[in-house]
Amino acid sequence: MEKWKKEYVKSIRDTDNLPDYFSELNFREIRQVAEKYPFFANRYYVELASKHPEIKSVIIPDKRELEDEKGLEDPLGEERDSPVPGIVHRYPDRVLFLVHNVCPIHCRYCTRKRILGKKVNFGRHTWDKCIEYIKNHKEIFDVLISGGDPLLLNNSDLKYLIENLKKIKHVGLIRIGTRVPSAFPIRIDNDLITLLSNFLPIYINIHFVHPAEITREVENACLSLSGAGIILGAQIVLLKGINDDPGILKVLLKKLLNIGVKPYAIFHPDNTKGTSHFRLDIEKGISIIHSLRGYISGMAIPHYMVDLYPGGGKVEICYNYIKSRKGDTYGIENYKGELFEYR
Ligand SMILES: *Cc1c(COP(=O)(O)O)cnc(C)c1O
Ligand code: SF4
Repeated sequence: MEKWKKEYVKSIRDTDNLPDYFSELNFREIRQVAEKYPFFANRYYVELASKHPEIKSVIIPDKRELEDEKGLEDPLGEERDSPVPGIVHRYPDRVLFLVHNVCPIHCRYCTRKRILGKKVNFGRHTWDKCIEYIKNHKEIFDVLISGGDPLLLNNSDLKYLIENLKKIKHVGLIRIGTRVPSAFPIRIDNDLITLLSNFLPIYINIHFVHPAEITREVENACLSLSGAGIILGAQIVLLKGINDDPGILKVLLKKLLNIGVKPYAIFHPDNTKGTSHFRLDIEKGISIIHSLRGYISGMAIPHYMVDLYPGGGKVEICYNYIKSRKGDTYGIENYKGELFEYR
């Protein structure tokens, strides 16, 4: 068995093992929450969270998950836009291809919380139908492989998927959405790098939420991916109590550029049942992003996106710098809040 698999099977599922890492928690409460929304995390991330309390709430169940009356089970209406199981076809030229529901950790704020840890049938018979769908829809240019985490598939399965997608002439872009490089970097081994580097160009968007996640191991994983020619981006979720703070975000965004990862998007948290305690006002989100623009490298600024439910899709939310218009003259504010007349 590969080293990463040996490590993965030692992941912690039973909350009774958590006192080895955390002492101050209410374990009776945690156990109760985990019965509805299973706890799961590999040992690397559990150890990291035990040393960095700022990211503890990424993985530790919280009793507010059970008290959430507002959230929706399927906030994005993905099941409605799914022509075959595994495919979400919402935008004209691209599809989301959900390959399984296995993850390196269960993020408590996950949009697909409803299926995490549940038995769902995936495998080549499902994938073949998805690939067939993509093949039959010539308008599909961009395939976003996600899940669950595609990088936790066996190398042979991952190869099977990418190889078959690459064979489809109209598919011009393959991207993988993953949390593995940031939450289980041991998986980024030489065999995986070699496999991926056979299919260039390939884009990988890595999910990050906090600068504490950028460890030496994560840096090495990202550098070896980009060293092999893979183009790396970051997807961040804006979360109350974790990163809804310009100072923390600034450190995260700059550290990402430091390890060769371009911040691509920052998502407003979806209205998922069991995650309301992570949600913040859109106004607050706008003001956080606004406070960064101009003050740090433009390369570091991701698009701030809200995914409209049910099924409305993603919309970029921006601060409005245009303050007035008279004829052909606009009143436009700069990043410092100074007003200019622009003809
Ligand atoms: C996010 C998403 C995509 C990709 O959107 P981009 O704006 O191109 O990054 C595609 N399909 C679905 C269903 C999505 O949710
Ligand atoms: S890695 Fe992604 S899909 Fe998996 S639990 Fe976290 S947010 Fe959800």
